[in-house]
Amino acid sequence: MIRELIAQARKIVIKIGSNTLADKDGRISVPYLEEFAAQVTALIRSGKQIILVSSGARVAGLSSLGKWVRKQDIHYKQALCAVGQVELMAAWRRAFEAGGIHVGQILLTQEDFGDSIRTLNMRNTLFTLVDEGIIPIINENDTVSVEEIRIGDNDTLAALSAVLWSAELLILFSDIDGLYDKNPKEYPDAKLVEEVRDIAAVRNAVAAGKANSFGTGGIATKIDAAQRVLSYGIPMILAHGGRPRVLEALAAGTQAGTAFLP
Ligand code: ADP
Repeated sequence: MIRELIAQARKIVIKIGSNTLADKDGRISVPYLEEFAAQVTALIRSGKQIILVSSGARVAGLSSLGKWVRKQDIHYKQALCAVGQVELMAAWRRAFEAGGIHVGQILLTQEDFGDSIRTLNMRNTLFTLVDEGIIPIINENDTVSVEEIRIGDNDTLAALSAVLWSAELLILFSDIDGLYDKNPKEYPDAKLVEEVRDIAAVRNAVAAGKANSFGTGGIATKIDAAQRVLSYGIPMILAHGGRPRVLEALAAGTQAGTAFLP
């Protein structure tokens, strides 16, 4: 099913998280970015249009300003993201350079999605960048995002972006192979759910949380993202971003994951 979803979709939003981008020392992994960019470039050459949603500004910031690792003050956290965002984009730019592809940075907040003029401008910019063969890389604008206007997590940001751009597929990369019938970190016998057709039922199970061992925490934002895009008829794939050449493997049908179907 995942293979078919990727084959059929022309406009794809891909979300990649800090855990996936970082190596074991907590730095942005350049080899990983290069491998990932090469796969995205191949997809573009095959006729796909791609938007990336990338976290990792904090991780990248800590790589350059390690002495700030224990600063908890919000202004330091935001300042760290300001530094890290530059590093993150520089790393992506270098990774895509090999294939001759340019990247464009888009930083958004919750407020941007609530304002019709802003959403129109964002849509137009996204369409222009993609039409020109440039890869937009979206992240939350952490330096202006105080609590009240935060989107809060990039699963939601990716879903909002997919709807905004009228994407045909959303792919979320995490540190698990997909949705399990129980939290796989707590239950070794948890089984991968390869297809979800009734998102409301899954959501209720997550809401019930620990009571039924289905799991809480990180998975909830992914279920919310699925529900959001599915309501616009956009399917979603949840897969492990750390698997070898994961985009190619998913497209070839050799890597498992969860397909959320409208
Ligand atoms: P990311 O940082 O990649 O966005 P998160 O750590 O926020 O991912 O969320 C993924 C985590 O959710 C998994 O590593 C897993 O521990 C947890 N989880 C809880 N319940 C489930 C479940 N039913 N299926 C899959 N993962 C689950």
